[in-house]
Amino acid sequence: MSLVTGLACVVCGQRVDPPPGAMTCPACNDPFAILDVQYDLDAARRTLTPTALATRPPNHWRYAELLPVEPDADAWSWPVGMTPVIDAPRLAAWAGVARLRIKDDGRNPTASFKDRASSIGVLRARQCGATNIACASTGNAASSLAGFAAMAGLTATIFVPQTAPEPKVTQLLIYGARVLRIRGTYAQAYDLCSAACERFGWYNRNCAINAYLVEGKKTCGLEIAEQCDADMPDWVVVSVGDGCTIAGVWKGLRQMHEIGCIDRLPRLLGVQAAGVAPVADAFERGTLPDRVDGTTFAESIGVAVPRNWRKAVAAVKQSGGAFVRVSDAAILDAMRSSGRLAGVFSEPAAAAAVAGLGEAVSMSIIARSASVLAVSTGSGLKDIRAALTAAGAPIDVDPSMSAVEAAIQR
Ligand SMILES: [Zn+2]
Repeated sequence: MSLVTGLACVVCGQRVDPPPGAMTCPACNDPFAILDVQYDLDAARRTLTPTALATRPPNHWRYAELLPVEPDADAWSWPVGMTPVIDAPRLAAWAGVARLRIKDDGRNPTASFKDRASSIGVLRARQCGATNIACASTGNAASSLAGFAAMAGLTATIFVPQTAPEPKVTQLLIYGARVLRIRGTYAQAYDLCSAACERFGWYNRNCAINAYLVEGKKTCGLEIAEQCDADMPDWVVVSVGDGCTIAGVWKGLRQMHEIGCIDRLPRLLGVQAAGVAPVADAFERGTLPDRVDGTTFAESIGVAVPRNWRKAVAAVKQSGGAFVRVSDAAILDAMRSSGRLAGVFSEPAAAAAVAGLGEAVSMSIIARSASVLAVSTGSGLKDIRAALTAAGAPIDVDPSMSAVEAAIQR
């Protein structure tokens, strides 16, 4: 059962008891004063043992003590988390390190890391009595929400801007979401979604600041600890957009260390796209830059105003880690190499982790003798246009053996 003891503010550190729906600290009056869920780790140490874990289902509900919602009988069967950790010796040689493992979160049910958070959000919405849940997004958060709403029997309403790419809209429609394509910008879609949630009483999933959803992301760190166990990597590499993924991974690792499941913690490497790197800037200078003018084709991590920057910077600092920035060209190269050398098909934002590893090795931040685990946060099938740019074109041949012979000799 869940061992939540309360919420604490990440800015002032106070234990707070906000009114329902409030997701920032009532004392701080700061939009970045987000909350952190706290647990009784002494109790978790007694029940979350290897023997107990061996009897639990292979999904992230196995860590029920350290989750903010109680999985019901139905949720226990949702196939979220416990994604594979793949040894990638040829990709390790390419990146220049002794050992590289990839945790492939593209194997979640809707093919991204976001399923960890959506499963928590949808379950919480259902337990609060909600029948409708909504968000404004064209990215993985929306498709993930639509997929889990379908599993949970909730109606999902997704607000997308007119420019939303067709493959992403298609995934929403297949999961049966009500897709409202707004003749306007993303910002207009976002505002309309928030207003509609208020007007119609829908559960709002627009929440980089929702403390409970971050707890879902934490399960990736819990799993890395359980899956690597006595063979912990020296470094864990995570691409960074808003900052809540890397903060979540760190929280999971730290909790497993505190309850005695692992005896040492890895260092964290945060990777940002060079065009949109406010969290890397904040890591170096202590504050966010005033504005971000660049862009990246790795859309999922191109976050100009990262709500969770404080948690992300604190996590990487506590771990003794570092941040690096990678170019879009390096990300494309990493997509190709991850596919060819490890059989892992990553979307650009996910391949950024492997690109960042290469960068950190060339900057001597990570030693060539190091053992590394990189998290691939989403499947390359999510963004076929980017994948085609990385992959190149097939060889067109006439239907004859001589044409085949000529083609394979090229
Ligand atoms: Zn506060």
